[in-house]
Amino acid sequence: MAKLLEVKDLKTYFYTQNGIVPSVDGVSFSMEKGQTTALVGESGCGKSVTSFSIMQLVGAPGKIVAGEIHFKGQNIAQYSEKKMEKLRGNEISMIFQEPLTSLNPVLRIGDQLDEVLLLHQKLSKKEAKAESIKMLGKVGIPRPEKIYDSFPHELSGGMRQRVMIAMALSCSPSLLIADEPTTALDVTIQAQILKLMRNLKSEFDTSILLITHDLGVVAELADRVIVMYAGQVIEERDVFSLFDDPKHPYTQGLISSTPKIESQEDELMSIKGNVPAPNNRPSGCYFHPRCPKAKDICKSSMPELKGFEDGQVRCWLY
Ligand code: SF4
Ligand code: MG
Repeated sequence: MAKLLEVKDLKTYFYTQNGIVPSVDGVSFSMEKGQTTALVGESGCGKSVTSFSIMQLVGAPGKIVAGEIHFKGQNIAQYSEKKMEKLRGNEISMIFQEPLTSLNPVLRIGDQLDEVLLLHQKLSKKEAKAESIKMLGKVGIPRPEKIYDSFPHELSGGMRQRVMIAMALSCSPSLLIADEPTTALDVTIQAQILKLMRNLKSEFDTSILLITHDLGVVAELADRVIVMYAGQVIEERDVFSLFDDPKHPYTQGLISSTPKIESQEDELMSIKGNVPAPNNRPSGCYFHPRCPKAKDICKSSMPELKGFEDGQVRCWLY
């Protein structure tokens, strides 16, 4: 299958008053067309900075310092802002955790939807309106004509996220980056949005890069999973083998700390300790202070990401 996205040795650093913060520290992964790939990890592991780097939306003091980002075979890490503007919202679009902050509060929903279409497609104002209303219907918004004339604050959180999805898919992007798309929503609405994303993915033939800390969301949506820890990829697998037989001790900890619906226990196994601060990472394997299986070599030497038959893992046990 053709590679849609290939990220090679991406490094995104932040130049702060307290020193250089390597938020993304040599990340490589690829995505095939038609797949939903999840980037998973605790907050601060670099997953959002990775997605912002792909969009070239990392603001100062952050900067991509090395690496390549190939999208449909082109290294977009070298694109000018002008070329990126053509790509964003059109070929690659993004939805975020809090749709209220991504929508303009003083503009009606319809005007915001039309704007995306008018920017990227040769449509008249009238055609854009018809298309926007059609999109609102496709994301399951009842009475789309009425919502078209509403302001963001008049909608519930779930409805706003549907509007964001409509906006993100309006130009049929090849890649949709969804950063914690359901985290701010309550559980029932979460399930509805995940179902909607699954359906729209096949209807629009869009691949999804899903950024989440929630393994429940991963299990619902992802085909492939990339687990990140402290700015690095530590494991990459297809979703079934990851849940079935996680290799990296960190992944094992994540999976055993996720509540299982069928389990009667409320006690969660959580991973001891905290993610190390990016400007103060330990020597050797970044996970060693928290790892129940750490050996001597783990304290002094960083393991490489090694491939095996169905994935990759960064750990001295393999
Ligand atoms: Fe644990 Fe060592 Fe593997 Fe790191 S390399 S995850 S410390 S066993
Ligand atoms: Mg984030």
